[in-house]
Amino acid sequence: MMIGDGMGYAQLDVTRAYKGEALFLESGKHRGDIKTANADTLGYENLPDLGVNYYTDSASAATAMATGRKVISGTIAQARPGDASDLQTILEYAQSLGKSVGVVATSHCVHATPAAFAAHGPNRNDFVTLSKSMYGKVKPNVTLCGSKQVDGVDVISEEATKAGYTLIKTKTDLISALATLPETDENAEIFFAGIFGEDEIPYVLPLSDQNSYEMQDIPQLNEMTAAAIEILSKNPNGFVLMVEGSQIDFASHNNDEERMIHETIAFDKTVKEVANWAELRSDSMVIATADHETGGLQLEKTNGVGEVPEVSWLWGSHTNVDVPIASWGLNSHAFVGRTVENTAIYNVMRGALDAQ
Ligand SMILES: [Zn+2]
Repeated sequence: MMIGDGMGYAQLDVTRAYKGEALFLESGKHRGDIKTANADTLGYENLPDLGVNYYTDSASAATAMATGRKVISGTIAQARPGDASDLQTILEYAQSLGKSVGVVATSHCVHATPAAFAAHGPNRNDFVTLSKSMYGKVKPNVTLCGSKQVDGVDVISEEATKAGYTLIKTKTDLISALATLPETDENAEIFFAGIFGEDEIPYVLPLSDQNSYEMQDIPQLNEMTAAAIEILSKNPNGFVLMVEGSQIDFASHNNDEERMIHETIAFDKTVKEVANWAELRSDSMVIATADHETGGLQLEKTNGVGEVPEVSWLWGSHTNVDVPIASWGLNSHAFVGRTVENTAIYNVMRGALDAQ
């Protein structure tokens, strides 16, 4: 399950104009559209302490994909509206089948999207609660993503260490750790936390020399994804992995077109590598989509290959326009030519798991 956070059709349009060719995401024949509105927009009753967001946030959108339930903004895999109980995520369902599970993201590890697949909580910004839930309770086998400082403490690394995870902080250490993996992991007993950067992961296009992947010895999205697949593949019962290109959204919030383009290219490259891997197999499905569009972006004028096109932005927040979905491998025809709710993604993944 691969999610370009904030990656609407306009983000693909603008990135294509810059590249001068179609993205890999656009090249597959198995493509459709996803509706992204959450329970706030759809008119359910709101809990008073969480407020109303007309446009979906990443927590509720990821919860819809991870659990098949529409929830209100800010919710991490809990029944809100409803009895506020934890909703089993597709990763937890896969665990019940003896599979290994993991999350990879260019946000920090308990940011909304990875959290909604592997943690539970009422508030997406309570990173301590979400870290305890992710590492202490759900226990995904692999998390490769950024760190987060709360009151001067790297809370994610702290909880992962407490829970007995092997903690990795650099790309160099990740490469050495891969060399020490056991031959097989049939009981899903590897617990591996790569938590990179002092506080979050840099953009692909760095904001400064210091704040770059190279200077901080951090793996790129496709490298983290390949490492996660290598680790999770040790389980002969199979695996479920969620991969997020998180910073397409961050750049779009800032209306930072050039960084948005480079984050989208990095995500597209990762999808291509994973889809090529899956297409050599008969037992794997890859879904790539977005949780919502960010910025109300529109392409106004192309400026040629390698030149940043002229665009307009509606604002610095999300919209509810339909977003693309593409899939490869097992059951990949499920979304062809259709417009479905984001909750349908959960059903398709569940169907693929039950068919194994
Ligand atoms: Zn956002």
